Amino acid sequence: MIEAAQKADIITPGTIPGAGQISQLRDDIWWVRMPLPFRLNHVNLYVLRADDGLTIIDAGMDAAETATHWRGLLAAPPFTQYAVRRILISHHHPDHVGFAASLAVLTGAEVLMGAVEEQKHRILGAMGDAEFAALMAARYQEYGFRDDIIAPLAGRGNHYSDKIKLLGAVRVLRAGDVLAGLHGTWQLRFDCGHSDDHIGLYDAGRRIYLCGDFLLPRITPNIAMPLGSPQKDMLGHYFDYLAEMADWGDDWLVLPGHDWAFHTLARRARDLIRHHQYRLDLLQEAAVAAAAAECGGGGLTVAEAMDVLFPMQLNEHERYFASGEAAAHLYHLYQQKALHRTIDSAGVVYYRQKA
Ligand SMILES: [Zn+2]
Repeated sequence: MIEAAQKADIITPGTIPGAGQISQLRDDIWWVRMPLPFRLNHVNLYVLRADDGLTIIDAGMDAAETATHWRGLLAAPPFTQYAVRRILISHHHPDHVGFAASLAVLTGAEVLMGAVEEQKHRILGAMGDAEFAALMAARYQEYGFRDDIIAPLAGRGNHYSDKIKLLGAVRVLRAGDVLAGLHGTWQLRFDCGHSDDHIGLYDAGRRIYLCGDFLLPRITPNIAMPLGSPQKDMLGHYFDYLAEMADWGDDWLVLPGHDWAFHTLARRARDLIRHHQYRLDLLQEAAVAAAAAECGGGGLTVAEAMDVLFPMQLNEHERYFASGEAAAHLYHLYQQKALHRTIDSAGVVYYRQKA
């Protein structure tokens, strides 16, 4: 159990590390924060100690700033006290995996990752600019975006490979694997929702959960249709995950991939269920309105759903996430048999109210 005093310690502002800094949470757990050049301006990384040395959980994005910070961190405790043995990557998103290949070179540590996420990393990372732009354009065409939004994609190239270095050899982790810790064992769990097969680690004895990007205390994790597999019910999988977390209780110490540590795990999971259900309701109302107006033949495109869920000016980086999120919500309603799904001759997908 976590002592009350320790609970209080964990959420004092002084515990939150600054950009490129490290903060010790337990004798075997450290929290590192790396800057990101986005509205979400940082990612949290963690360091776990075992008898044989350290495991770093996630690496940050591949950027000169990340390299500078890691060089500074590695020259000080705990890295000067204990050898880095492993770098465990939770999922393939650039802010988590981007710097892992370079960090493996700097530390001599092996990289550990799940098979599905490793494959995504390699496919997206190796894609040429034209191939990546074509994939994006095909998706945006399905989503029903106008040509003036689709055409500039050709000039943007591969915005995944911009932010990562491709990994070298990886030791593949599987369901049921565990990580030895200083005070027992970290169990691994693989979850689908924010990404296809994201790894979280938990110490059931001390009730500490490194949840990566699956639960965040301030913002909602992005639940989006994957670029390369446009017919997968990511939100349905995420609802399954949240339902399980709602049963875990509020006495865990949760260490997330962004923002700050928190304890209200079950409450946060229930809030997120309500958040997504409300947004599904909004889209069903919009589908009813579209049927009444008979715009687009009475159906709702992803682009129109995005305007319902995100009624604000978005830059291209934000549009990419927002449209993926809108697509995941509409596809979930289709999977739930609440909406029909049809494709017109131009390849635009419409979601229609059921008769
Ligand atoms: Zn992520």
